[in-house]
Amino acid sequence: MIENLEEVQILAETWNAEEVLQWSFEAFGNRVEMASGFGVEGMALIDIAARLNPDLRVFTIDTEFLFPETYQLIERVEKRYGISVERVRPGLTPEVQAEIFGPALWSVNPDDCCALRKVGPLKEKLSGLGGWITAIRRDQTSARANARKVEWDAKFQLVKINPIADWTTKYVWNYIFTHEVPYNPLHDANFTSIGCTHCTRAVRAGEDARAGRWAGSEKKECGLHVELPVAPLVRIATSSACD
Ligand code: SF4
Repeated sequence: MIENLEEVQILAETWNAEEVLQWSFEAFGNRVEMASGFGVEGMALIDIAARLNPDLRVFTIDTEFLFPETYQLIERVEKRYGISVERVRPGLTPEVQAEIFGPALWSVNPDDCCALRKVGPLKEKLSGLGGWITAIRRDQTSARANARKVEWDAKFQLVKINPIADWTTKYVWNYIFTHEVPYNPLHDANFTSIGCTHCTRAVRAGEDARAGRWAGSEKKECGLHVELPVAPLVRIATSSACD
């Protein structure tokens, strides 16, 4: 735990993305890692961080339901930046999940599915770290509007670092084009936010950027950045792997 976290939290709001990242690398060394879903924000952040830190550690929560384009982008990132991306997978294979919880848990209860395939594996991964770096931005959802650049993550009990919390969509794309950073080609087909195949569609004219995630339901977050209720059986399945 950083003793003067409150001071850092205030100071960090005056820092740019490079300064926030630099602080995190100096404060935590190899106990800080970047989580990435390889969306456009994540790509910009990887590009910045890889230039600052040749030992950058990146992991992704591989639900085993990602788009082929996403898996291909991960391989491209590994080659371009000379890093090895850790694939953090759920304890349950898709087949075992289907046997226990039914063939399409994502449509019956997406919060439970996310708990099994995303939140549980993330919790286990973060338990060995002092800090984690994310590419969340304040203008993405109302739940992210108050994100600080450096903050205590009470849910996972470590420091959370959000270096581009204050970036806009326009700023992100400007960075991508200026620095010729690769990105998921699905973005060019109106997939503004990209997650699992079962729960992501392209957005239509007039819809907000995350309307293609869990379309038709009230769900807006997978639970990595906010707390979501999950069923008792799912809690047991995830806690045996994580607690
Ligand atoms: S995004 Fe959909 S398929 Fe992926 S873990 Fe969540 S509910 Fe399951």
